[in-house]
Amino acid sequence: MEAYQGHAEGLHSRCACGGQYQFVTIVLTLPDAHLPRAVVRNVPAEICDCCGETLFSMPITVRLMQVLHGNAQPDDVLITPVYDLNHNTSIG
Ligand SMILES: [Zn+2]
Repeated sequence: MEAYQGHAEGLHSRCACGGQYQFVTIVLTLPDAHLPRAVVRNVPAEICDCCGETLFSMPITVRLMQVLHGNAQPDDVLITPVYDLNHNTSIG
């Protein structure tokens, strides 16, 4: 995960590959110390339309770190089904 300084210089700037950054909102899936993964919704980010390089502004990066490494209660919890094919019962 990379961060850029300031907002204006990052907005719709050019990626090293020559592509244009698009300002979008994404669902971010990251490894987390407490859970297998954490999904962060509504993350303002810029994604290169060519190579997919993703940039976050510094305030957003700080907020992501606070959310992922702090004690904040999640707004929602996903239940992930786990199937074990060694288990001797039929599935679905
Ligand atoms: Zn690019």
